[in-house]
Amino acid sequence: MNTRTPRLRFAPSPTGYLHVGNLRTAVANYLFAARHGGELMLRMDDTDLARSRPEYEAAIQEDLHWLGIPWAQFARQSERMDRYEAAAERLKASGHLYPCFESEEELAAKRAMRLKRRLPPVYDRAMLALTPEQRAAAEANGKRPYWRFKLSGDTITWNDLVFGERRVKLPSVSDPVLIRADGTPLYTFTSVVDDLEFGVTHIIRGEDHVTNTGIQIDLMAALGGKPGDIAFAHLPLLTDAEGGKLSKRFDSLSVRSLRKDGLEPDAIIAYLARLGSADDMAPLTRAELADSFDLGRMSHSAAIFDPRQLLAINRHLLHRLSFAEVASRLPPEATEGFWLAVRGNLDLLSEARDWWRIVTGDIVPPAQPEEAEFLRMAAEHLPAEPWDAATAGAWTKALGAAAGRRGKALFHPLRLALTGEESGPDLRDLLPLIGRDRALRRLTG
Ligand code: GLU
Repeated sequence: MNTRTPRLRFAPSPTGYLHVGNLRTAVANYLFAARHGGELMLRMDDTDLARSRPEYEAAIQEDLHWLGIPWAQFARQSERMDRYEAAAERLKASGHLYPCFESEEELAAKRAMRLKRRLPPVYDRAMLALTPEQRAAAEANGKRPYWRFKLSGDTITWNDLVFGERRVKLPSVSDPVLIRADGTPLYTFTSVVDDLEFGVTHIIRGEDHVTNTGIQIDLMAALGGKPGDIAFAHLPLLTDAEGGKLSKRFDSLSVRSLRKDGLEPDAIIAYLARLGSADDMAPLTRAELADSFDLGRMSHSAAIFDPRQLLAINRHLLHRLSFAEVASRLPPEATEGFWLAVRGNLDLLSEARDWWRIVTGDIVPPAQPEEAEFLRMAAEHLPAEPWDAATAGAWTKALGAAAGRRGKALFHPLRLALTGEESGPDLRDLLPLIGRDRALRRLTG
């Protein structure tokens, strides 16, 4: 049993905006840490200097702030190059790293040959046989080596917190390149150095990293890490409703666009926390989500990201927010009565503004020429103010009796004339907010 404080990390590459795919990983790390009294670190995997951008890093941090996902520690891989160099020297000294000179074309040709012979297209380790003379000759020709890690050849197994026992047979994996010819280290390597040095205890990431996990466990052992020091959990991938890859639509599914669409951070977190879990989706608070967060209840198959389900969570969440919780985001004059009247009808908070305009502003309701006589009668029957929650009931009862109408025939023309909308909050709540003058104007066109 691991008794250390759990240390987790969310490690995005700042090569684009945060999207629902990598945010789901962030949410799982955040809630796991919260549940187990652990700490979350934010690590920028920015060793790909050509694709990493400071503006993406800033955007990722801003999005996490907006979502209310805090981190206790921050690191940037591009500032830790000395650590990776030191670790690489250790691996070279222990014979785990070996220099290679084959070009992309040569490697592609070798792969093609192996496939033709029905062999798995793994690297043949030809460069392990490189003599010092051959290396010197290649370097004299202006070539710089890149460096591969010599995998142990074991079958790596681990007890995945989502999948249970998982294994990767290293003989069917090519020795990974850890250092490019220009000397820059690759993610496979830098991630392991950091996970060991920062004392990470749990790595939760996407299922696309399963083979990496096999490789990285082998690499950890070569760097002196003890097997089992780090627990792994892999989250099944997300697909769209048709089972297609979500990554094609990541632009429209960025945190930025969800924010622009007016979704609540809490709804996004609640949705992603239980997406693919056996636990029911619900608009729970952070504390409730953390208390019930259980990787063992995650399905082993891909989860479908359904924007309609996210919107449903958003709707449920709005329905239970108090006036105090939203007041700062409502029009300044909006009252608690207004909020309580409309909140049950909102998909998005921004719609509250529309209702505020409907009850307090000028609207032009659609013409209902066939209802002119009825609406005139309705205006005549409007009671005197003050109005309260009983007014609409008394008014429509008297009007219904006078006009010989009930149900939809009675209410629909009134609603349309008073609000310009086919549906919405109860007239009982709306009428006192609209007030007699405005109601009279709208009924008499
Ligand atoms: N930068 C990697 C990614 O975004 C991190 C993977 C990991 O968690 O190790 O895929």
